[in-house]
Amino acid sequence: MAEHDVIVVGAGNAALAAAVSAREQGARRVAVLEKAPEELRGGNTHYSGGLFRFAYADAEELRPLVPDAERQVRGFFQDVEPYPRESFLRDLMRVTEGRADPELAEIVIDRSYDTVRWMAKQGLPLEPAVSLSAVRVGDRIKWSPGAVIRARHEGVGLSKTWFEIAQRWGVEILYGTTAVRLCQDGRGHVTGVTVRAADGFRDLTGRAVVLGCGGFEANPEWRARYLGRPWDHAKVRGTRYNTGDGLRMALEIGALPHGQWTGCHSTPIDAAAPPHGDRKLTDKTNRLSYPYGVLVNGNGRRFFDEGEDFQFYTYAKLGGIILNQPGGVAYQIFDAKATPLLEGRYKTGKPMVADSLEALVAQLPVDRQACAETLDGYNAAVGVAAFDPTVRDGLGTSGLALPKSNWAQRLDRPPFAAYPVTGGITFTFGGVRVNERAQVLSTSWAPIPGLYACGEMVGGLFHTNYPGGTGLMSGAVFGRLAGAQAAAE
Ligand SMILES: Cc1cc2nc3c(=O)[nH]c(=O)nc-3n(C[C@H](O)[C@H](O)[C@H](O)COP(=O)(O)OP(=O)(O)OC[C@H]3O[C@@H](n4cnc5c(N)ncnc54)[C@H](O)[C@@H]3O)c2cc1C
Repeated sequence: MAEHDVIVVGAGNAALAAAVSAREQGARRVAVLEKAPEELRGGNTHYSGGLFRFAYADAEELRPLVPDAERQVRGFFQDVEPYPRESFLRDLMRVTEGRADPELAEIVIDRSYDTVRWMAKQGLPLEPAVSLSAVRVGDRIKWSPGAVIRARHEGVGLSKTWFEIAQRWGVEILYGTTAVRLCQDGRGHVTGVTVRAADGFRDLTGRAVVLGCGGFEANPEWRARYLGRPWDHAKVRGTRYNTGDGLRMALEIGALPHGQWTGCHSTPIDAAAPPHGDRKLTDKTNRLSYPYGVLVNGNGRRFFDEGEDFQFYTYAKLGGIILNQPGGVAYQIFDAKATPLLEGRYKTGKPMVADSLEALVAQLPVDRQACAETLDGYNAAVGVAAFDPTVRDGLGTSGLALPKSNWAQRLDRPPFAAYPVTGGITFTFGGVRVNERAQVLSTSWAPIPGLYACGEMVGGLFHTNYPGGTGLMSGAVFGRLAGAQAAAE
């Protein structure tokens, strides 16, 4: 008889949702394998902003999730706009250039609200995501529809609470335990995993295995292999333990790859950020207020339409675009009109500051003549519409080869500030193909019996870009689904 009903590999949001769901659906002996030691547990989930994007027909549907929201944010339920499933689907398809797998997209979107309700019922405290998605207008807040709720205490709180819930359900958690190989019987049914722990290798047997052990973002060799140059040099925003082990194990037994293996989520971060995520700083190295400024590279040139769209719809591709600039670095330049709009996270960095644009440019390690020309040219091209950070205001440049489409104010009010940024990798998009039961398919398009996947390991949803808050949502939906299905094995 198998030692475990369900073995879950990984201990992030997706894996712990799977473990809890498996217990809830009747699996008695559920084990979670965490490669990291206990003090570094929780994968990227720990480092995340804890933001969940989900569909809701009306702001009133948020009340059971955040009953005290009005106490924290006056007018919350009046100010939040509806985010029906059609809007979520439209956003996902728009930013992924129509490539998101429609079946997977439907599963995530249709189950998103119910899954957030389930997490809240399990005891996960939620709150309005004020500092992440909100723009203050006077004493009211303009919310980015769909991205308004996060876990209390962000990723740190999310991860800690998931462990508490899992322990409450009696899930066994094995720290410092790396899954290295999937075991199969003669019929191809997955019967467990070989693990490496401090005392060596051993086999753990289980009736089903759920892989929820992340992508390959922390593996420079795989980054070079699949993402190409210069991704082997990228700083990693989160955990150092997501090295593609689950993908390798699944591919070794014939799993079908799916999605964009050359793609990843990557954001503009402080150029001085550490090589891997910092447990305390977590996502605070992000630099996402570029729509209100001008972005130049080492050649002193602009290279991206800073005002193409709201940050939530461009930030996940901009990191890679910056990494591909000379030296992998760029500079976000703001004037005093924009600095009150900068996210609080900018306070963790040290900008260069000057009383004139010329003096600021003189401090930048860029082609200064070209940079001065770029900024003069930008200022001369700014249009006349009214600036409004709460809508795509159409205040664009005219006559520039590379326009800035919205929020293009002149840089003319001192002091001026420049923040050095690089591209930090968050997670990879390539994964394995799963069906509507979260079963992993083989290259012959049939489910591999006994094998499920969830979280970053699921390929096909994200391509080129990503709408903020969808990673945790997809992880929770497929984790819950995989756990329930595995329990039924
Ligand atoms: C800085 C940052 C901010 C983010 N903010 C947000 C946000 O606000 N909203 C959002 O939706 N998404 C956000 N994301 C993305 C989000 O964190 C991920 O999509 C999500 O956490 C992935 O969950 P997961 O469970 O698949 O993987 P992870 O949380 O990364 O967990 C993977 C687990 O697998 C373990 N593991 C790896 N290999 C093995 C092995 N061989 N054996 C055993 N265990 C193994 C790891 O140690 C880890 O416990 C952010 C990410 C980062 C880095």
